[in-house]
Amino acid sequence: MIGIGEPEPLTCSRAGCRETAEWRIEWRNPRIHSEDRVKVWLACPEHVDFLREFLAARDFPLRVVAADDTRTSA
Ligand SMILES: [Zn+2]
Repeated sequence: MIGIGEPEPLTCSRAGCRETAEWRIEWRNPRIHSEDRVKVWLACPEHVDFLREFLAARDFPLRVVAADDTRTSA
């Protein structure tokens, strides 16, 4: 039996994508989210640009960090 004690694989947040995420996009919609509310999307290398552009086009504040970076945002 393998996998016991191992974390769940991080899967890309892009609809229909089953790739392992290597990036984490932390974002917020200023119109509906308070300052301390942060949403997190996970992205594989192929879709990190798509997801970042999707949010950037809406002028949402966002931050892209490595998925295995466990440090919390400042
Ligand atoms: Zn993907």
